[in-house]
Amino acid sequence: MIVVKIGGASGVNLEAVCTDLASLVKGGQKVILVHGGSSETNEISTQLGHPPRFLTAVSGFTSRYTDRATLEIFAMVTSGKINTLLVESLQKHGVNAFGFSGVDGRTLVAKRKETVRIVENGKQRIIRDDFTGKIETVNTGLLNLLMDAGLTPVIAPLAISPEGDALNVDADRAAAVVAGAVHAEQLVLLTNVPGLLRSFPDERSLIPHIDKARVEAAMAFAEGRMKKKVLGACEALELGVPKVVFADGRIDQPLTRALEGKGTVIS
Ligand code: ADP
Repeated sequence: MIVVKIGGASGVNLEAVCTDLASLVKGGQKVILVHGGSSETNEISTQLGHPPRFLTAVSGFTSRYTDRATLEIFAMVTSGKINTLLVESLQKHGVNAFGFSGVDGRTLVAKRKETVRIVENGKQRIIRDDFTGKIETVNTGLLNLLMDAGLTPVIAPLAISPEGDALNVDADRAAAVVAGAVHAEQLVLLTNVPGLLRSFPDERSLIPHIDKARVEAAMAFAEGRMKKKVLGACEALELGVPKVVFADGRIDQPLTRALEGKGTVIS
C-alpha cells in the first residue's frame, strides 16, 4: 500500500497523476490519496471577500489563520470542489474512487490547538479562535473497509476534534499520519518542484537521497511551506513508514517516476 499526497500549489498535472494512479491501481497497487487545496482556498476566499491571513508561530512555522468563516470556505473548496473533481477524474480513468474528508466517520481525529502563540510585528500574541489541529488518531478500520470493497479513498484535509469541531489540518502531515497508521510501504508527496532543493529555486540542486537519520538536518534547506513537508516526512518515518519521496507532480507518469526513486528519497 502507498499513500500519495497531491499538493495544492499550482502546476501539478492532475490529469497525469490520475492516469498514472489508475494504471497502478489496475496493476493491483493499493493507494490512498490525500490532497491539499491551499492555493485555491486563497483564491476563493479572496473572491468571497475574506482574504487569507497567515500566522507565524513562535516556532517559525507559518499556517493559515482559520477562523470559523475560513474553515467553512476551506471545507467548501477542499472537501467540496477539489475532492469531488479528483474523484470525478479518477472515475473517468476507471478507478472506483471514494471521496470524503477526515470529518466523515471520524476518519481523522485531531486535537484542536486551543491557543496559538504567534509573532506579529516583532511582538508575541495569543490567538484563540483558530480551527486547526494536530491529528491524533486515524480510523484505519474504515479505510480498510473501503479498500477491501475495492474503493480508492480520496481524503480532503479536514479532521474532527473529540468535541466534534471540524478542523483544518495540514495535508502533508495528514498524509504522513495516514501512511503510518495503515503501515504504508511508501509515502509520496507530489508537488510543483522536482524534490527538496539544496538552493531553492535552482532545480539543478535537487537532493536525490537523504538518510532517514539525517532528515532533520534537511530542514535547513527548506523554506516556507517546504518546512511542513519535511516535518511530514519526519513524522511518517517516526511512525514506521520506511520510505518517503518528495517528487515532481508536473511531469508525465509522476507516480511511477516517484516509485522508481526520481525526486528526493528519504529512507
Ligand atoms: P503543495 O501545495 O504541493 O503542498 P507547497 O507550496 O506547500 O506545495 O510546497 C512546495 C513549495 O515549497 C515549492 O513550490 C517551493 O516554492 C517551496 N520551497 C521552499 N524551499 C524549498 C526547497 N528547499 N526545495 C524545494 N521547494 C522549496
